[in-house]
Amino acid sequence: MRPLVDLVDTHLHLDDARFEADRGAVLERAYQAGVRDVITCGSDLASSEANLALARRFSERGEEPPDPATACSSPARVWVAVGIHPHEAGRVADLEEAARRIETLAAAPQVVAIGEIGLDYHYRFAPPGVQQAVFERQLALAQALGKPAIIHAREAERQVLDTLARYPGVRGVLHAFAGTAEQAREALDLGWYLGIGGMLTFPSARQVREVASSVPIERVLLETDAPYLAPVPHRGKRNEPAYVPVIARALAELRGLEAWAVAASTTAAAAALFGIPR
Ligand SMILES: [Zn+2]
Repeated sequence: MRPLVDLVDTHLHLDDARFEADRGAVLERAYQAGVRDVITCGSDLASSEANLALARRFSERGEEPPDPATACSSPARVWVAVGIHPHEAGRVADLEEAARRIETLAAAPQVVAIGEIGLDYHYRFAPPGVQQAVFERQLALAQALGKPAIIHAREAERQVLDTLARYPGVRGVLHAFAGTAEQAREALDLGWYLGIGGMLTFPSARQVREVASSVPIERVLLETDAPYLAPVPHRGKRNEPAYVPVIARALAELRGLEAWAVAASTTAAAAALFGIPR
């Protein structure tokens, strides 16, 4: 099996406590598995700050290409999305102040997106109206800053798509996309990308596979959502970015493509959307 050498994990949560003991090793395993870059997503202001601190710590190599001599002991490069997740929307006391703090964080060169933001009607930790206000304020910020957005939509795909249509200047990715084929087409028509992760390998995720098998491959990004949603055969365990090749191979098999072609396409898409140097 030809190894995959240049993958991007476009969505994970490196600040999660489950990575506390071995974050460096996780990033090194990712690199050895061919995952050269990861994007770690904030879920509130504190987590956005924590992720940025991690990026500074682990990616001091900046834009330099990895040195082949030391490649085996290099960690994957860490990029950051800053923002407030819909689960945390109810904790925002002053939305304008929060937007100012996100804007300040977004000025750091490691920050490539606003995220993760969106709507979650499954858990409804915050009332829909509050989620909507926090979501839209951050979309407006993404538009003002010219940054892509990373979107969480759970049982709220319809509302998210209607909202995105009102911010035509913003592009980004619908992460862990689980909507219908029709909704996928709408997102693509709006110029958005779809994030595909471990759910692709879950036997019950028929709709995810249906969408993943039919959307234009150049609009697909790979992601783990680590530590959540580990792909089969790691399902139920802690997910990590080194499993991106499992997802790339599952997608390749589903679409009758070579895994290296899926890697090349998804990495080119991630580099283009997030401005990650190649
Ligand atoms: Zn996430």
